[in-house]
Amino acid sequence: MTKRKPNYCPYCGTALMARTFEERERRFCPTCGEFVFQNPVPVGRVVVLDGDRALFVERARPPYQGTWTIPGGVLEVDESAALGATRELREETGVGASAKDLELVYTDVDVDDDGSILTVCFAVERDRTTGTPRVGDEPSAVEFREPGRLVESGEETRPLDRRCLEAAFERVRDEEREFTPRS
Ligand SMILES: [Zn+2]
Repeated sequence: MTKRKPNYCPYCGTALMARTFEERERRFCPTCGEFVFQNPVPVGRVVVLDGDRALFVERARPPYQGTWTIPGGVLEVDESAALGATRELREETGVGASAKDLELVYTDVDVDDDGSILTVCFAVERDRTTGTPRVGDEPSAVEFREPGRLVESGEETRPLDRRCLEAAFERVRDEEREFTPRS
């Protein structure tokens, strides 16, 4: 499985050929006799809610450098989405959470020219987490912020994160909120 459209077989290096299967044109390795499928890359995320605030990380590196996002990252090969989300939370912010305490609030797929990302977003109340937020592995800043104010301030946020935040307040708190920037 690959994110970008593959040209060569990842197992034997043979140039792949086009072959239609299940109504889509796929890539096929004539040497292995197998399709090489292009799939979404799964990302686990978690919104930590604290009153009106949520835990944000400011991205230190591209893509989306300088953007405030909710913690998360690509799942490892042996991880469930909830386990990967808690690992990323701990690595990026120092905040601990148990996978069984996470509530699934939102999933979506983002497609671009390269391929696609499948987001699986969870939420948890801060009082079910442990530790004090600190700047971990990747972000340049880690802070609890009010999403509405953050969006109004004009600082960079992503539409996907805003949808995750809206879903977290709705599913966990039964509160309807809209984090849409004024254009
Ligand atoms: Zn092959």
